Amino acid sequence: MNSSIISNSHEALTLLSEERPDLSIVVPIYNEAESLPHLLSAITTNLDATKLTYEIICVDDGSTDGSADILRQQAQSHPYLRAVLLRRNYGQTPAMSAGFNYACGRVIITLDGDLQNDPTDIPRLLAKLDEGYDLVSGWRKQRQDAALTRLLPSKIANLLIGKVTGVQLHDYGCSLKAYRSELVTDMKLYGELHRFLPALAFIEGARISEIPVRHHARKFGKSKYGLGRTFRVLMDLLTIFFMKKFLTRPMHVFGLFGGGAMIAGTLTGLYLTVLKLGFGQSIGDRPLLILAVVLFLTGVQLFSFGLLAELLMRTYHESQNRPIYRVREVIGGKQHSQV
Ligand code: UDP
Ligand code: MG
Repeated sequence: MNSSIISNSHEALTLLSEERPDLSIVVPIYNEAESLPHLLSAITTNLDATKLTYEIICVDDGSTDGSADILRQQAQSHPYLRAVLLRRNYGQTPAMSAGFNYACGRVIITLDGDLQNDPTDIPRLLAKLDEGYDLVSGWRKQRQDAALTRLLPSKIANLLIGKVTGVQLHDYGCSLKAYRSELVTDMKLYGELHRFLPALAFIEGARISEIPVRHHARKFGKSKYGLGRTFRVLMDLLTIFFMKKFLTRPMHVFGLFGGGAMIAGTLTGLYLTVLKLGFGQSIGDRPLLILAVVLFLTGVQLFSFGLLAELLMRTYHESQNRPIYRVREVIGGKQHSQV
């Protein structure tokens, strides 16, 4: 696990100030009181066997069933458990994002707090990561959820996401994933983007892989999602599509369509002007006139939208000091040549 994962100065600094654990296990918790004690003991039993150092970060996402109290109790007996209690229920993505912010391990593992993911799979994820990947995602090959409301929408969503993002995974929705920490620490999550982390990581040039993992039916509590999630996932997919294709060059798409529409509108308008002025025809009641006006106005709007998007994109990158590229490694060249 010590395969020198320190790749940027931020990490090196953190390393100097404190000893980092090998693993951070990040678990979002929303009303999982009954599962929690089982989950914590399953994680500790499995990880103690690996001899890796680790911390567990449980983010309580505003639970109302006493999960927070259980976390408080458990923190007494588990010194490496860190409970982050959010003020209210924000949703799984913000909860995971909070977990990432508190995580200081070299590798971050995420899993669900409902015992559906199995901590015995963690060593296999790590072994795959060590083969040289930046992100290894779990694939719930035999998924134990309702067929019609969960499995079918998820199958369609997985196909679509694969097509749009170009990252070929069988199962984007599986929370059990392992990341090299530098991948997630500078990733900003919104909406329900946690399921698109592989796609976002791919946009940043990460090497991604997938292995089949176990999946259990929910024993305690109930699922927090229904069919409504499908719509939200589709909308998030649109955002990702745009980010992947045009994040650094929005004018290329808006300019193309806007410019095209303006030219088409202008040509149609010119044609009508010639008919009116050259041949004295009446053009007031022609649908073509409406088309010309609509095309031109749409064109102007798309064009200005593109300009605005260009400005926003610059703000996006510059305000956060985000380069538009990612360096994997820099080799040699520390000394200057002698003359
Ligand atoms: N979760 C959360 N906040 C929410 C909804 C869910 O932190 O608003 C957590 C939940 O406790 C669980 C994980 O996210 O650990 C996945 O939720 P769930 O098991 O309901 O999703 P499913 O497995 O049914 O897709
Ligand atoms: Mg679940």
